This record gives sequence, C-alpha cells and structure tokens, in this order.
Amino acid sequence: MELLENAVRPYAWGSRTVIAELLGEEVPSAHPQAELWLGAHPDDPSRLVGGDGARTSLLDALHADPRRLLGADRADRWGGTLPFLLKVLAAEEPLSLQAHPSLEQARTGFARENAVGVDRHAPDRNYRDANHKPELICALTEFHALVGFRDPAATVPLLRALDVPELAGHAELLAAQPDADGLRALFTTWITLPQSALDVLVPALQAGCVRLAGNDTEFHTEARTVLELSERYPGDAGVLAALLLNRVTLAAGEALFLPAGNLHAYLHGAGIELMANSDNVLRGGLTPKHVDVPELLRVLDFTAAPPPVLTGRPDGEWIRYDTPIDEFLLRRWEGSNTSRAAAVAVPDGGPRILLCAAGSASVAGPGGHLEIKRGGSLWLGAEDTGITLTPGTERTQVFLASDALS
Ligand SMILES: [Zn+2]
Repeated sequence: MELLENAVRPYAWGSRTVIAELLGEEVPSAHPQAELWLGAHPDDPSRLVGGDGARTSLLDALHADPRRLLGADRADRWGGTLPFLLKVLAAEEPLSLQAHPSLEQARTGFARENAVGVDRHAPDRNYRDANHKPELICALTEFHALVGFRDPAATVPLLRALDVPELAGHAELLAAQPDADGLRALFTTWITLPQSALDVLVPALQAGCVRLAGNDTEFHTEARTVLELSERYPGDAGVLAALLLNRVTLAAGEALFLPAGNLHAYLHGAGIELMANSDNVLRGGLTPKHVDVPELLRVLDFTAAPPPVLTGRPDGEWIRYDTPIDEFLLRRWEGSNTSRAAAVAVPDGGPRILLCAAGSASVAGPGGHLEIKRGGSLWLGAEDTGITLTPGTERTQVFLASDALS
C-alpha cells in the first residue's frame, strides 16, 4: 500500500477548476486541466510515493516485479501490465466524436500501421497499441454526453420537427429504413459530404435548431446541443452526426458503459473514468485532431439502443458498476463517520487503485495505515489484503478500481 502521485493532462477542452480544486491547488489553474491519470500507462505513469518521499514510476515498479505487485495469476493473465487506467475527467468543452476498436480490430490495426511504417506517436496514427479500449464513466457532477445511436423511431420525429428543407430527404431516407442499415446509410452520407455541401447544410440545421431550442419542445435539449457544437465547430459533419445519437444527462453516481464500436462524444461535466489500458481512438469530427472516417466506419456499431446508463448495484457497503469487461471494475463508496462509525472493508483481489473524490479517509492494513484526503490516491498491490477504510467526518466519496477477475 503506497500513496500515488498522478499526472495531469492539459488538453484544451479541460476545466480550469475541477482538477485544481480536487488536488487542492490554485483555482483557476493556469492552463486547462482535462484529465488526471492514475495507472501505469507508458505515456504518463503514476508514481509511488515511499515513506521516505522517494518517487518510483508505477510502470517501472511493475516491470521490476510484476508477480508481487499484480499477483502471479494476474501477472500471467495481463502479461505483466496493469490492465486498467483510471482517470478523473473534467470536460469544460465537448470532446471529439469518437469510437474505440474491439480487441481484434486493435490488434489488426496496430499490426497494419506498424507494417506500413506509421510512427507510433505520429498525429495521424489510429492504433497506438494493440489493445481495445472499452470505457466506463461515472459522473461526479451532472454529466452530459452523446452516446450511441438513438432509435430511428425517435430520431425521425426530431429531423421532421427541425423543419429544414435541406434535411427533409434525409429524414425520409431514415423513415423508410428505420434500422441499423438506415443509420449506417445516413451517417455515411453525412460524414462523407464535401465541405461545400456541409457549409450549406450545417447553417440550415443551425437555423432549424434555433427555432426548436427557443420553445419548450421535447427536442430543445437536442437542439441546444447541436447549436453549441456548431458554434465551436462550424461546418463540421460531426454536428449533423450529433442528431443521430442519444443525448444523455447523468446525475452524480450514474455511469455510462461504452463498448467497442459505440459512437460517443462527452459534452460537459466531471467524472471518474475507468478503461482498458489503451489509447486507441477513432475520431469522426468535432476536433482539430486527426480524423479517419473510413476507419471509423469500419469499427462503428450502428445498432440503435437506449443509452447504456448504469446506476450500479450494492456489493456489501459498496456500489459496483458491472460491465462485460474483464480488465476493469469500478466500485464507489460514500458516507461519513457520523453515519457509519465502523471501518469499511476494501475488497481484495489483485492490483487496485483507491481514489478519494470527496472528504477524507484513513486506510489501514496489516502493514500500517495512510491518510488520504480529497484528490488523494493509493496503490494497493495484490499482497495488500484485509484493507479497511474509515471515513472522516465530512461526506466522503471513494472510488476503487480493480480488474473484474474476482
Ligand atoms: Zn471514448
């Protein structure tokens, strides 16, 4: 059991307050702070902080002794690496429209780009590793996102309500084929339109959205989202694509699970994100970064479904967010010392990262105890079993990341 020190990623869409407040630093921060990375990703591994203050990269520590840190079974199963990456995500502005590949697609794509000699860090590289990147985000604040294709039975009325002559044909195309094939056809049409056509269609859509956003129609949230996106990314095909996706607002404590092929864009809010340890992103727009439409089309799942919102289920004193993914499992505990005087057992099982998102906690095990306050985090290795936490008197919220093998 050791304290962790974690890296902040300063992407332009980040918040200047959320991560700075969490870490007890000066607010607002000098630069946008988008993500805090807790884990052993080679691009920005966390550091273990020893009792003497010495820092060791968690990645180096894992390389040096994977069987002790991960446990023998996990070291074999995960090839000596930490299978998950935990993040605090703080989006002030929308992130790109994106999807992540399946394991098979990532392996093939990574090998293909290696074979043709695309540098692993080149901006136009799609596959930076050979791993899939399913992800789970659990809201810390109200969290807004576009996630997965909406049932065309609900999208067609939205397109018709917009009352944009330039879109009428597209609405009827989807009405005539209200299924995955119809969604694929319409999305492909829009995402491959030449810029000259987009420069006509997107402003026409904006005008329709101004009308819908102004009154209290059932679609005003969708219309406002399109307006926000089109202001930031005028003439971007991703603005059109947003019309086809579920518009979701998560309350704090609710989560979204994003399997391979799910088209999504996070819009605004702060959350705890847990994912397989990968950086494979295929973008379709709403970004100045590399966009590869043909590759995105290859991996996308056009099956319409309600947004995959998870409320979590009780597991002892914790709430856990189950997914079909073996690489990660997120648990959350919330309470305070006034309501629960007894120490709370931290589930055993392989390598884990504990993050205090609110309040404070005293974490104890056979080897001693450590205090963490808001923004603090701990590494728990496979050998750190029988750990307990005792919350401070304020409302305390703690997240535990592990793999899902036990
Ligand atoms: Zn994503």
